[in-house]
Amino acid sequence: MFRTSLRRAAAFQPARPCFGAFSATAARQYSAATGTADINPSKLKVEKTTQPKGLLKPEELVFGRNFTDHMLTIEWTKENGWNAPEIKPYQNLSLDPATCVFHYAFECFEGMKAYKDKAGKIRLFRPDKNMARFNKSAARIALPTFDSPALIDLIAKLVKLDSRFIPEQRGYSLYLRPTMIGTQKTLGVGPPGSALLYVIASPVGPYYPTGFKAVSLEATDYAVRAWPGGVGDKKLGANYAPCIVPQVEAMSRGFQQNLWLFGEEEYVTEVGTMNFFVAIKDKKTGQKTLVTAPLDGTILEGVTRDSVLALAREKLAPEGWKIEERKFTMKELAEAANEGRLIEAFGAGTAAIVSPVRSISWKGQLVNCGLKPEEESGELTMQVKNWMEARQYGDEEHEWSYVCE
Ligand SMILES: *Cc1c(COP(=O)(O)O)cnc(C)c1O
Repeated sequence: MFRTSLRRAAAFQPARPCFGAFSATAARQYSAATGTADINPSKLKVEKTTQPKGLLKPEELVFGRNFTDHMLTIEWTKENGWNAPEIKPYQNLSLDPATCVFHYAFECFEGMKAYKDKAGKIRLFRPDKNMARFNKSAARIALPTFDSPALIDLIAKLVKLDSRFIPEQRGYSLYLRPTMIGTQKTLGVGPPGSALLYVIASPVGPYYPTGFKAVSLEATDYAVRAWPGGVGDKKLGANYAPCIVPQVEAMSRGFQQNLWLFGEEEYVTEVGTMNFFVAIKDKKTGQKTLVTAPLDGTILEGVTRDSVLALAREKLAPEGWKIEERKFTMKELAEAANEGRLIEAFGAGTAAIVSPVRSISWKGQLVNCGLKPEEESGELTMQVKNWMEARQYGDEEHEWSYVCE
């Protein structure tokens, strides 16, 4: 089943380079294109709502609770490929209880944001990165792939139509949730013959409305988020539900999030649903070093992670910093902390941009991540947030920013 489904998934984009090793093989197996349709923005049908929603006050927004007037939907079938895209009033889905998504988790998603700049234009941030990752996630679970620029074009149309929901103030944005599900009605385990891609949008406020609040983490060694050869590097819904019980347990002991470790060596991987960065001084040379785990298949390829690394190479390396993507262990962190070499630590992801870390509970000790008791964020964490926002909100014109025309 596996080989067949891969060939099927690859069939729609035989030579898309973003696939990586996994799908390159699948693409090679598949020689003749099936000739089914890709996503075509020129076929878009728009049905505007007749009951526009009232706007909440910006300070009343709760992450992921409220949605805009419209949604984008695109159906796919094995026979015809992608149907005409539709923008229509936000509404319930109606699915047969036997639909495969409910039984075998044929679901993947993305998380990205649209920002309003000073001139009132709407901007996406590196949407090509989200689309490449969405395609990789879909291909891994035998869902169809699609033409990335076509979906970006349609998302831009949706956010422009619903742009009145995006507050102007700094820190506010429209959180976008592209989602793909297998919709075939069957309890048989196999590649879905039909799928639905949809995009919904939720206005959101700043993650830290009253300024940074440093979090305390519990290093989790009894449960594993991802493993070599697994799917932890894909945004599959199935990766997230199993992480909630460990999170609730960490919270019951007074920690806001899990720091996911891997293996007997206790490699540090990610924090909650964010990538993890530490700034340490090199043991021998004292050189300031920014470290994050490498993309070895167990780490989600965060767009924020990639952006933080690029910014660090651009702005910190010239100041003498070392930037490293490498494996590091909890033991190494604890040692750095004990020797006063741990400068700061933060999580990185679209929702918060960066999230400062105060301490990590590990093997009965509390590893202090470099903040003074009265501090809620380190200098670097603050800088990274400002560098990121300058490009997200278009204060600094940059190729990462996609203006929705
Ligand atoms: C989404 C996600 C991230 C962050 O990715 P961004 O593209 O930066 O938002 C990191 N880790 C996990 C597990 C995630 O699901």
